[in-house]
Amino acid sequence: MEDLARRVVDVAKRMDAAGFAPTKSGNVSVRAGDGMLITPSGLPYAAMEPSDVVAMDLDGCAYSEGHPSSEWRFHAAVYRARPDAQAIVHTHSPRATALACARRPIPAFHYMIAFCGGADIRCADYATFGTPELAEAVVAGLEGRKATLLANHGVVAIGASVEGAFAIAGEVENLAGQYLDLLAAGLDPVILDDDEMRRVAEAFGDYGKVG
Ligand code: 13P
Ligand code: ZN
Repeated sequence: MEDLARRVVDVAKRMDAAGFAPTKSGNVSVRAGDGMLITPSGLPYAAMEPSDVVAMDLDGCAYSEGHPSSEWRFHAAVYRARPDAQAIVHTHSPRATALACARRPIPAFHYMIAFCGGADIRCADYATFGTPELAEAVVAGLEGRKATLLANHGVVAIGASVEGAFAIAGEVENLAGQYLDLLAAGLDPVILDDDEMRRVAEAFGDYGKVG
């Protein structure tokens, strides 16, 4: 448990250092038994220690002291809906969030979209942060995917490990930047078709399972 909490905090600090969590946004969790370990709400990452990570069940009952992330509902909903999700990273990374504010999904303009689990990265419907409605929207956005944009908000990525979920969140930001650059240049990206995206997903093999 102590080791898992340390990994959650390490990834949260990496997310912050990457500039993915302006104004202490974002949160990180990992599945633990029937529940999860999740970052505390509002605590600056620089001050965060493994002992600040909150252990809770998927109904919102905390086993340890401290205030869990205000987004515990969507973390819990994703763990319920997705047995493949062992960890969740939520960011407000700037370029992906810019696209999310335009409610623009990211199409298969680059084969690395498949790294995020499918043939596109959706933009989940808007709902107020922390609400059950947002939890429902996040689960729908992630269906058959490892990442989704959140309208007027940010990004959610899932993984087989907390480091894997962070890798997916980083790739979403990278792809969002490339896509925005194309749009800003007035270029019309060529979109890879579903057959090619399936081939890419197969070719990833074990690579694709890293996340
Ligand atoms: P917390 O600090 O409560 O985790 O909230 C950050 C956030 O990104 C809300 O969407
Ligand atoms: Zn957020």
